[in-house]
Amino acid sequence: MSVLVIADHDLGVLSPATARVVGAVAELGPIDLLVIGQNTDTVATDAARLAGIRKVLVVKGVSATDSDVSVIQSLATEHQYVVQSAGSVGKDRLPRLAAKLDLMPVTDVVKILGPNRFERPIYAGNALQTVTDDQPRHILTIRASAFRAAATGNNAPIEVIDISVVSAAKLIAAHRTESDTPDLATAQIVVGGGVALGSAENFHLIEALAKRLGAAIGATRAAVDAGYAPNDWQVGQTGKIIAPDLYIAIGISGALQHLAGIQGAKKIVAINTDPEAPLVKLADVALIGDLFEIIPQLMTELDKAG
Ligand code: FAD
Repeated sequence: MSVLVIADHDLGVLSPATARVVGAVAELGPIDLLVIGQNTDTVATDAARLAGIRKVLVVKGVSATDSDVSVIQSLATEHQYVVQSAGSVGKDRLPRLAAKLDLMPVTDVVKILGPNRFERPIYAGNALQTVTDDQPRHILTIRASAFRAAATGNNAPIEVIDISVVSAAKLIAAHRTESDTPDLATAQIVVGGGVALGSAENFHLIEALAKRLGAAIGATRAAVDAGYAPNDWQVGQTGKIIAPDLYIAIGISGALQHLAGIQGAKKIVAINTDPEAPLVKLADVALIGDLFEIIPQLMTELDKAG
């Protein structure tokens, strides 16, 4: 049994999600890690340090189109598992690979119960499903935030593979949002803001608090729809799934669709005027009051603490 993990990377940096995926599948067999794309030198070196990696395979110059699936298909002939994080690339790529291999992918895995038994959330996280996958090979997307990262300290060999691919699809452009805050999906602290902020300008309060704490910024769909926060900050059923050590939810009621995205949060602090809000009831600590008074007070206390 061997595993092919496909690395997530961007701008020449290995995503922390990949270390978590490697940690997740450590028990399934020897792991080869595939780095595919452009600007891969540092990515490959960092990937080779992850514990449990047998070798790192690098395929350069292939962009995220249907050609990368052909490459994976040709490299993964001897692996029983092909695995990537359930991020936007993995969610797009692995179902296409599964279709080519005539297999059913198992998506959003949050627990590995055995070689062919996997747990995944359904109904927006309101229930957990155990899947027994009797297929000869398994295509998995992994919710990275549900697993601990593999340790580092390895020195796996790096093999560069020269494959030429003919692709029917062409990547025209990639549009990115520049941000100096941590990645929402893997951040240890997330500060989330709701529609109660009232404007995009006021949302800067959330950004300032997040910056002060070295946290990622989240938002409710209501706040995103109102234009207070960009779409890629949305947390929940139709947004990002987060599992930080600390989630500070500010002016957020706690609708089911929002809660679907924060179930992995270890501690929750809610700031809300309504003591009956579902998120207040769920929180480990609730500060009942006006966010426009509480956030400045918090900032002052943080400044005093240095
Ligand atoms: P509200 O529910 O209006 O809550 C605002 C809160 O702020 C209230 O609790 C209020 O007491 C508090 N408040 C008001 N003023 C202050 C103040 N001055 N200080 C402190 N507190 C204050 N939502 C998501 O977040 N993520 C999703 O992925 C998502 N997916 C969805 C998918 C579908 C199919 C549908 C139908 C809905 C989805 N939603 C999602 C929307 C969701 O149902 C809620 O509408 C949304 O989460 C509410 O956002 P909110 O908490 O900002 O707003």
